[in-house]
Amino acid sequence: MAIKVKQPPEEMTAFEEVSWFFEQAAERLDLESELREMMKQPWRELTVQVPVRMDDGRVRVFTGYRVQHNAARGPYKGGIRYHPAADLDEVRALASLMTWKTAVVDIPYGGAKGGVTFEPRELSRWEMNRLTRRYTQSIAHLIGPTRDIPAPDMGTDSQVMAWMMDAYGQLEGYNPAVVTGKPVELGGSYGREAAPGRGTVFVLGEWAKLSGVSLEGKTVAIQGFGQVGSWTARLIGSVGLRVVAVSDISGGVYNGRGLDMEGLLRHSREAKTVAGFAGGEAIGNKELLELDVDVLVPAAVESVVNRGNADRVKARIVVEAANHPMTPQADVILNQRGILVLPDILVNAGGVVVSYFEWAQNIQQFRWEEERVNQELLKVMKEATERVYQVSQDWGVGMREAAFVVGVKRVAQAIRLRGFV
Ligand code: NAD
Repeated sequence: MAIKVKQPPEEMTAFEEVSWFFEQAAERLDLESELREMMKQPWRELTVQVPVRMDDGRVRVFTGYRVQHNAARGPYKGGIRYHPAADLDEVRALASLMTWKTAVVDIPYGGAKGGVTFEPRELSRWEMNRLTRRYTQSIAHLIGPTRDIPAPDMGTDSQVMAWMMDAYGQLEGYNPAVVTGKPVELGGSYGREAAPGRGTVFVLGEWAKLSGVSLEGKTVAIQGFGQVGSWTARLIGSVGLRVVAVSDISGGVYNGRGLDMEGLLRHSREAKTVAGFAGGEAIGNKELLELDVDVLVPAAVESVVNRGNADRVKARIVVEAANHPMTPQADVILNQRGILVLPDILVNAGGVVVSYFEWAQNIQQFRWEEERVNQELLKVMKEATERVYQVSQDWGVGMREAAFVVGVKRVAQAIRLRGFV
């Protein structure tokens, strides 16, 4: 079937951008229109008010969301984001990505996402604790171990998950499987924190093997040094790459000979930023994206590679460790320039895969050793990368389109089997 390559519109919201990638795959798969509509739009959305008593006695009213995009393949699953830009449209976009991601790695979940709109660095620990409890109570009727299982995302961590588990438990009784990404002491899985970074490295390594590309001695720049970026930086040497630049919201650092990772991790723990690290020269976030490196790993926020800078990206491989770091316009430009893009819904799926292991361990009330977690993760990421690579070869499409084809096809099949259409 001949497919016309459509140019994406100039202005799109985050959800429209993600839906664009979905539509391309739906077109390839020739899905019927009513099925497309069911698969594109979220199945349920909730907006809640989150009033919080601040440390100074005032009450501030925040807005929170939980978007349940699709549950054809299993309970809804997706992180909670605390960020000033976490509005309904962005949460919807991220929920949709989760649907395709869980399907690409073939774990029995649907897709969801949640968020509260605020800057976490402005709240004290107790304010954050109160906000998390109130938000959890407000969405408690929608979540649960067989309904919808939240996890960490930007601005949230294992501590926030512990508060969520506790707040939910006060209403429904002890049930650690209601959230994943918990501290190990409270039923979290070994290896969960490193999982999105470890998975990123597994996907890149497997892709290199499949396509016969050597990464040995090549350079990499990583934007974002949080949970995903810092673990990617720590582990990416295992596939032969040398980390020459990293950045976070406060700035970055560059050293062409390679950054001393031990020293950098120590500095970032103490200074709470990579900026100011003495082992290299200062570099800005935008500059990092345009560095003359072999591999670029965006591991922070959305849409950082866009039509404004896609012409200036010099890396030959872009590995999307963040969710939706590239707009459809930039995707077209990079494709035309022959730059390989390994897509978010495959690359960063390691987080949700180990979340699935955590959930399974909680239900069985049994704990796996870290070695087993990492081995099982490798198995899942390897299989998914092989499948996506195979489709990209067979259909003559890029890895993003191939990943969407794999994910969308599996969700469509589940909807058909359930007897909706
Ligand atoms: P995090 O909050 O731990 O870290 C985010 C990092 O990005 C920080 O270093 C922060 O300083 C930096 N950052 C924030 N705004 C920035 C900006 N404007 N420019 C440059 N850097 C900026 O978040 P995380 O959990 O590492 O998530 C990063 C990305 O990975 C997000 O897109 C998230 O959705 C995705 N992701 C996270 C997980 C997970 O389990 N945590 C799993 C899969 C995907």
